[in-house]
Amino acid sequence: MGEVRVSLADHSYSIYIQTAGLRQIGQFMQALSCSKKALIITDGNVGPLYAAVVTDSLRAAGFAPQVLVVAPGEGSKSLATADRVFTTAISSGLDRKSPIVALGGGVIGDLAGFAAATYLRGVPFVQVPTSLLAQVDSSVGGKTAVNHPLGKNLIGAFYQPRLVLIDPLVLDTLPERELKAGLAEVIKYGIIADADFFAYLTRNAAAILARDPAALTAVISRCCQLKAAVVARDERETSVRMLLNFGHTIGHAVEGVGGYAEYNHGEAVAIGMAGAALLSSRLGLCPPAASTAVQQLLTAMGLPLTAPGYGLEELLGYLARDKKVVDSKINWVLMQDIGRVMVSADVEVKQVRAVLAQLT
Ligand code: NAD
Ligand code: ZN
Repeated sequence: MGEVRVSLADHSYSIYIQTAGLRQIGQFMQALSCSKKALIITDGNVGPLYAAVVTDSLRAAGFAPQVLVVAPGEGSKSLATADRVFTTAISSGLDRKSPIVALGGGVIGDLAGFAAATYLRGVPFVQVPTSLLAQVDSSVGGKTAVNHPLGKNLIGAFYQPRLVLIDPLVLDTLPERELKAGLAEVIKYGIIADADFFAYLTRNAAAILARDPAALTAVISRCCQLKAAVVARDERETSVRMLLNFGHTIGHAVEGVGGYAEYNHGEAVAIGMAGAALLSSRLGLCPPAASTAVQQLLTAMGLPLTAPGYGLEELLGYLARDKKVVDSKINWVLMQDIGRVMVSADVEVKQVRAVLAQLT
């Protein structure tokens, strides 16, 4: 079993990475000294596959679990669905020590986390992430949110879980496209912080795509370590946490122009990372070989590098509206080499245009 400790100013918790760990969730949660009533939030894809294992384990550990199944997809990250969670919690008599358990991908984690942060001003929150993206990214770090019709993730809270339990075996049932989307964020960690890990990914791309359990466990553990280290240094995203936005500036623009429909988040971030790498090398910040290595790894993992047919002006319009803009300047996360990035607010628009022209 792997354990990654997340140490924050006011509290610390563990991320356990454990093959077949789902069956032991009850034992893990016993250590948290919560009340017995527990509310599991899951979606219509994950619930039928894994809710029974989790409820059996919780019952065996003395809990009285209840399951709320919401519709799969981003649409469930809404105040309306959060309200369903609150109604279930209130009508079942959940108290201030009753745990809310997120069993699902990032949508469920963000929704359940938001509900846990706000129900009774905060109840114990447990993350059981089941998509690769959730295991390496959204379940670590304490950002929770729901969407508003006017924008994504606008209503939320920083709220840390008491425990994160990751079972790599659940990735067996994850659709191929979702696996690859998670791999985009995995590659990002290599680029921003760990050249050796980037090399490991390059060497093991085939095994990872074939869902080799040992390779996936190694990947998840390393990503959790890297994200935990960044979050420990900057819980509220005022400094180094910004580096996690590598590839996300152009990525968000691609998602926006495509109406969040054509490319999923990971694919858009892959295009954004290819763009950020090109921009870095164009500006002379990194060797051209580093940019090429990024493109090659993205391709090996089956991810897109370009968004053909997308309008350059439209993308620029989205870039200007991105929330990482401070004082109307875009804070670009750029590559100095594989494993090393920097933030720059001094990138000329003509350079950005030139790169976008290569991507579209
Ligand atoms: P998701 O939760 O929609 O999951 C993707 C799909 O895979 C869904 O259809 C889901 O039902 C299915 N699925 C999940 N696990 C499965 C499994 N083991 N077997 C079969 N099917 C499975 O999406 P996601 O990509 O996991 O997360 C995206 C969300 O995460 C977005 O809303 C994004 O804003 C959020 N996010 C949050 C943070 C954060 O720091 N809080 C970071 C990154 C992303
Ligand atoms: Zn992302």
